[in-house]
Amino acid sequence: MIKEILWFPSNKCFIDGNWIEPQNKKYIQLYNPSNGEFLTEISRGTKADINLAVRAAEKSIYSNWGKAEAVDRGRILRKMSNLILKNIDKLALIESIDVGKPLDQSKSDAIALARYLEFYGGASDKIHGTTIPFKKDFLVYSIREPLGVTAHIIPWNYPMQIIGRSIGASLAMGNACILKPAEEACLTALAFGAIAKEAGLPDGALNIIPGYGKEAGKALSSHQGVNFISFTGSFRTGTKVQASAAKNVTGTTLELGGKSPQLVFNDCNIERAIPFLVKAGIQNAGQTCSASSRILVQEELLSRVTYLMGHEYKKLRVGPAIKNLEVGPVISKKQQTIVEGYLEAGSDLQILSTGSLNNSKDENGFYCTPTLFMCDDPSHILAQEEIFGPIQILIPFKDEEDAINIANSTNYGLVASIWSENGARQMRLAKAIKAGQIFINNYGAGGGIELPFGGIGRSGHGREKGYEALFSFSQIKTVASFHG
Ligand code: ADP
Repeated sequence: MIKEILWFPSNKCFIDGNWIEPQNKKYIQLYNPSNGEFLTEISRGTKADINLAVRAAEKSIYSNWGKAEAVDRGRILRKMSNLILKNIDKLALIESIDVGKPLDQSKSDAIALARYLEFYGGASDKIHGTTIPFKKDFLVYSIREPLGVTAHIIPWNYPMQIIGRSIGASLAMGNACILKPAEEACLTALAFGAIAKEAGLPDGALNIIPGYGKEAGKALSSHQGVNFISFTGSFRTGTKVQASAAKNVTGTTLELGGKSPQLVFNDCNIERAIPFLVKAGIQNAGQTCSASSRILVQEELLSRVTYLMGHEYKKLRVGPAIKNLEVGPVISKKQQTIVEGYLEAGSDLQILSTGSLNNSKDENGFYCTPTLFMCDDPSHILAQEEIFGPIQILIPFKDEEDAINIANSTNYGLVASIWSENGARQMRLAKAIKAGQIFINNYGAGGGIELPFGGIGRSGHGREKGYEALFSFSQIKTVASFHG
């Protein structure tokens, strides 16, 4: 079925504007997480393909894309954005089949991709340097320049959104990009290549090499011709990418996930909070770097939150992505086993509520039961480790100080949210909590394309999204001119 909707050669690499077989003619098999069935083959790219891609990107920097006017770069990005919207149903279906996301989630990912390209397309001719007051005989100014060839190593959980925020910003700045999608889910990344070509993006400005992390990913992150690496994925792989990059002193942004808390105070509007508390944990079957897996609840509100969240969990239906239920499968058998391991690790905790697997029982997909635990030990493994599955824990706290200590008690610091109607408390906590993004009386601000995003601690470093990403994908050159 998938073959009929793929309008591009999904088993090839996209290099220098052409669809090319992998140099070693080896392939990776893709499976549908909703039923475990074989889907199609993608290229198993290696160093040889990465070398070709780097050469094509370098050529593009010195010719077509590097010479394009900023306004024209923006126009092409906006054209890509329009083509994404034109193809939205196809893209959403491909993503749902490939990644296992419920259709509505895939659709909102495609909309986000279009919106990133619109945002960065609009920004590409609005980035400028500054003049700097210096000695009276000098004119000093700074120029914001592209970095050159940028590598984008991305995971399988939100391919379209991550492509949008990272490739969109990098292209807008005038860099040439090499994208290494995850081996588990590559198809919308390849579709993005086809759309870029149709929109008239010059050859070599975008190159896409599917492949395994330890082959294509490693070759890309250690390549001398790469000037910057944007990596999104696990902490463990992030450390490897950073080590490879260090050998060439290549800059990086690392977005490595988290253990993001929501802090629920007695004085909050609990009816408003409940859907956010749950959605932030189970969206994309919990496979979200900014998933909120810890719900910290002030003691007096605990029984009410337990009841209301428990009620929401009972309504969660797990099933095939194309059935568009609340929760789809996780990406792979491997991920399912990891999540089951965490459920086992929580066997000493009280289960407050679960979702229903009824809609998935005739399927051979990789389904996990959404589970809400009570946990009064903030050092428990379920309260400390990123799970990447539909599991949340409630942790009680006494007062503000207790809440801050628990919120800051993991090695991560990506996102946090504060549920309280007390303005002074909101401000105190926004300062005190260690995270790259703080939300007050919401979670995620509905996507927040415009909002800088990234972590501290084991959540990584550097910022993507918003205007800030344009700074990550560029560098300042200072010019000091003596005029006597
Ligand atoms: P996951 O998100 O499945 O936990 P990773 O963080 O390992 O996995 O994967 C994120 C991306 O990093 C994927 O595109 C993967 O292929 C890539 N990758 C994995 N290992 C390496 C490596 N050693 N060097 C560079 N990239 C890698």
